[in-house]
Amino acid sequence: MEYPEELIKSGEIACKVRERARDYVKVGSKVIDVCEKVETWIKELGGLPAFPCNVDINEIAAHYTSPWDDSSIIPPDSLVKIDIGVHIDGYPADTAVTVCFNPELNRLVEAAEMALEAGIRSIKADVKASEVGYAIENTIRLMGLKPIRNLTGHKMARYVIHAGEIIPNVSTLDGHKLREGEVYAVEPFTTLLDASGEVRDGPSGYIFQFQKKRAIEGKLSKEILKMIQTRYRTLPFASRWIMREFPKSEAKGALEELLRSKCIHAYPQLIEMKNRPVAQAEHTLIVTKDGCEVTTAKY
Ligand code: MN
Ligand code: MN
Repeated sequence: MEYPEELIKSGEIACKVRERARDYVKVGSKVIDVCEKVETWIKELGGLPAFPCNVDINEIAAHYTSPWDDSSIIPPDSLVKIDIGVHIDGYPADTAVTVCFNPELNRLVEAAEMALEAGIRSIKADVKASEVGYAIENTIRLMGLKPIRNLTGHKMARYVIHAGEIIPNVSTLDGHKLREGEVYAVEPFTTLLDASGEVRDGPSGYIFQFQKKRAIEGKLSKEILKMIQTRYRTLPFASRWIMREFPKSEAKGALEELLRSKCIHAYPQLIEMKNRPVAQAEHTLIVTKDGCEVTTAKY
């Protein structure tokens, strides 16, 4: 089966950037430097960010990117998830790595990676999503850890990161089947046995998405909304990306108006309910008749 060249290429870029990010991130690194390096590397290699680089530390499982004035740094003994999205002409790749600075938590990373492998091995055309979830959960449980049950893998489409169908990280009754040619991100999240195994919504993680064009007052708000629609379409974007192109205080006011009027929405950070550390591993793949082709695997 033939796939768009852009889909293979965005996977290749995402893979290269992920491996560079793995080496780049250190205790004491500024979080904003990690985000901006990743996004710059994506562009240098010929892609565009499909969403802002996420840097999620410890109990934060997902959806944090630096605001424009972020002064936070990677703390000692932390578990750092770097989640990277690349697109070429809308064809997406979504991949993540966890870098562990606490040897006691290494097994969370190992379990996430092994569960990802097990999930990928279970995939072929017409397999049930629940069977993939079973393979993932079983691998994590056998290592004496817990999956995060309310975070899932997801189908992707052109300019769409979450295209409806999901791949659970636990055994479920979900009967939906993966079809040949469909693109999915598989992303197990692991935590400790004494954790809740679920995430809750936290404060905004400075990641936004276009929702609907509605009546707004401000001239700059209108200009920014137009830019968002043209440049990012249905893909998530960072307030940091907007802030760097306009005077800071006016851009801040405009984004607030766009949020208030529900022209855009903010993604909340997703935080482990008992504030226990979380690890993640993620690849993008295309379902084939006898298996799958992982677009973000090592080259
Ligand atoms: Mn991801
Ligand atoms: Mn994903």
